[in-house]
Amino acid sequence: MQPVEVSLSVVAHVGAASVRRSLPRRSRRRVGPWCFADHFGPLAVRPGAGMDVGPHPHCGLQTVTWLSAGELEHHDSLGSEQVIRPGQLNLMSAGHGVAHSEEATAQYEGRLEGIQLWVAQPEATRDSAPAFEHHRDLPSVDLGAGRATVLVGELHGALSPARRDSDLVGAELVLRGASTLALRPDYEHALIVLEGDLALEDERVGPGALAYLAPGREEVVLEGRGPTRAMLVGGVPMDEEILVWWNFVARTRAEVEAAREAWERPDGRFGEVASLLTRIGAPATLWSR
Ligand code: MN
Repeated sequence: MQPVEVSLSVVAHVGAASVRRSLPRRSRRRVGPWCFADHFGPLAVRPGAGMDVGPHPHCGLQTVTWLSAGELEHHDSLGSEQVIRPGQLNLMSAGHGVAHSEEATAQYEGRLEGIQLWVAQPEATRDSAPAFEHHRDLPSVDLGAGRATVLVGELHGALSPARRDSDLVGAELVLRGASTLALRPDYEHALIVLEGDLALEDERVGPGALAYLAPGREEVVLEGRGPTRAMLVGGVPMDEEILVWWNFVARTRAEVEAAREAWERPDGRFGEVASLLTRIGAPATLWSR
């Protein structure tokens, strides 16, 4: 069995907020189809001054948004307007193209913290119609010294109702001691620590770090040393090469250029978002200079 591989996140900027980005990293670009993970906060927000991210496009991926504190309001070009709170899941499947914004709510003041992950869509759905789902009743499982809430896929027999386009799992683990987690040996997995101190095998992992577990494991023993919160992500390793550029997941540079042009022109591919925030323009593609 391969040892646990730990990679540290980098600080990136999304709107006015700084985030800890644990995927992609040079040493670890994907975990199954999970190709992006930004942990934001904790930050202090008030009405009209939150982690506002203006309208921007996506294609070829699903956004998975999960909060541990606070509120955010999602707006998208399908007409969805959805407030999300801790314990709830916003899942947007971009397919051929969608645009969205993430905004402070009108009433919330306090701490905001959460994670946004992306799942690369497989060939079968990556060019399909966009869709949005909100889930407020997700299954949870008792891990002995902790609990898992299953956002997507299945863990310990608990199956999330959320859409999944390929074989994968995403769960939040809240640990207060040692728990054994059953894993699928055909999956690769990672733990992204959001809070606390996680011990697994010979590694100690703190907030911002990602611990990668290669395929071939039936289980792993996790120990939260004090209250610890982590995301578990996993899936069958993708057999397709993907190209992640800005907010797009594609396969070729030509696809990226087409998506970029469609947003910059704009030609309606990504639709319109009802938002007062400023639309975010695409950067130049470095390879075309
Ligand atoms: Mn987005």
